Amino acid sequence: MKDAKYIFVTGGVVSSLGKGIISSSIGRLLQSCGYNVTIQKFDPYINIDPGTLNPYEHGECYVTEDGVETDLDLGHYERFTGIRTTVRNSVTTGKIYQAVIEKERRGDYLGKTIQVVPHITNEIKDRIKANAEGGEFDFIITEIGGTIGDIESAPFLEAIRQLRWELGRNAICIHLTYVPYLRAAGELKTKPTQHSVKELQSLGIQPDILILRTEKHLDQGILQKVASFCNVSPDCVVQSEDLPSIYEVPLNMHRQGLDRSILGRFGMADSASHKQSLAQWEEFVQKEKALHSSVTVGLVGKYDLQDAYKSIRESLHIAGIHAGKKVEIKFINSENLEPQFIEEALSGLDGVVICPGFGSRGIEGKIEAVRFTRTHNIPTFGICLGMQMMVIEFARNVLGLKGAHSSEIDPQTPHNVIDMMESQKALKNLGGTMRLGAYACELIPGSRVRGIYGQDVVKERHRHRYEFNNDYLHQFEQAGMRCTGRNPENDLVEIVEIPQMKWFIGTQFHPEYSSTVLRPHPLFMDFVKSL
Ligand code: GLN
Repeated sequence: MKDAKYIFVTGGVVSSLGKGIISSSIGRLLQSCGYNVTIQKFDPYINIDPGTLNPYEHGECYVTEDGVETDLDLGHYERFTGIRTTVRNSVTTGKIYQAVIEKERRGDYLGKTIQVVPHITNEIKDRIKANAEGGEFDFIITEIGGTIGDIESAPFLEAIRQLRWELGRNAICIHLTYVPYLRAAGELKTKPTQHSVKELQSLGIQPDILILRTEKHLDQGILQKVASFCNVSPDCVVQSEDLPSIYEVPLNMHRQGLDRSILGRFGMADSASHKQSLAQWEEFVQKEKALHSSVTVGLVGKYDLQDAYKSIRESLHIAGIHAGKKVEIKFINSENLEPQFIEEALSGLDGVVICPGFGSRGIEGKIEAVRFTRTHNIPTFGICLGMQMMVIEFARNVLGLKGAHSSEIDPQTPHNVIDMMESQKALKNLGGTMRLGAYACELIPGSRVRGIYGQDVVKERHRHRYEFNNDYLHQFEQAGMRCTGRNPENDLVEIVEIPQMKWFIGTQFHPEYSSTVLRPHPLFMDFVKSL
């Protein structure tokens, strides 16, 4: 069995430097050298997973095929590299402590006092190495969330320090820092970087490679200076300048020889197949730069924050690039969508996405938005809660079912067209009632979605508790809203569409989680093409 190589990615100076993009770019570059990679995220916060975190705090919650609620960086990993992440790729302090405490209760530690070192750090090390089992991967990239100096990240850094000793030449550390530009002085400052590296060194970790985030181009002199102050060889200091698109980052890293430097640190040679395999990526970036015609898509949701609907935004953008259309996104807050404002808010849009979500805030605005797009034949894509809103709107305004609702929002509704399955109701713990991860969906022959996918059965990822209520199925079908995707095992409705309309499709699942740069999701492609 081959030995996996480990790459640890840490961040210093400030947060939000884009460690997720850098880790993803490194993954992409190593793939282009012919290697199998995986990328995992270790988050120092205490939540077991981000499932319960408010998107305003932490952005979107991303879901893996095996049904784990994770950090949105895993979305970048999958979009950049096309890999499929699993429960092993997302670990939090909460998960680590939970595992250690369970072991302690079981008596696994044989009467020992449980301590951060070695019990917590050993658990972290085991989790870092878990992806190496089976020998599938040449490289395991581990991104450590947070910033050097945070109290929470200390056990993770200690684990990395130990692992570097144990793994010898099979592990390297890449540190991402920030070089601020002081406008008043007209100078770029490397001092924060030096301090951040000193802090790492004081924890016993010498970075092998430094990546400097910067708004302005750094000249060779600055890179040399950082190299000599930080004990890093000059070819191992690269800069990550602000670029118009995150998808240019791997190419920018490649131009500076980051892939060569990484392989060099492991004593490996650069492979010859390299150029060719970045060609597709380059082509994608060229297309992105060449976009001229644009379409505007309204995103009807309740979180006015870029990261809250990250995968949807990226899926639209990526599909647009492949379709040769620049997709401009206009966020529309459904909380402010009173009927009298709908026309103003939604007119002029080429298409509308009704976003996923939980709870009652902004619900009526979403329903009103659907009424407008349905009655004005505006292409509409409803995702999860968005699909449920399509169903409710149709029930109220076409089927005439007054007060129709989801029992999530109105448990007393006379027409629970969206409801929880009986088997789920029996479960008391809310976490246990969520349908999470990939499930099969059978597409009805002759439907639009069957044509779009070009397949009879697809697998798509879920994250919801409520479902289309099949008691009403016949009425919907009779009146023109067709249920064209069904779960083959339990017959749950997965897709609704109105075939007469230009484009009106709702999915109970989240197609945005599986759209990648080189393999855009067919539904997003078709939606954008229709605009
Ligand atoms: N709140 C809805 C449900 O739980 C939809 C969830 C979502 O949009 N992810 O069924």
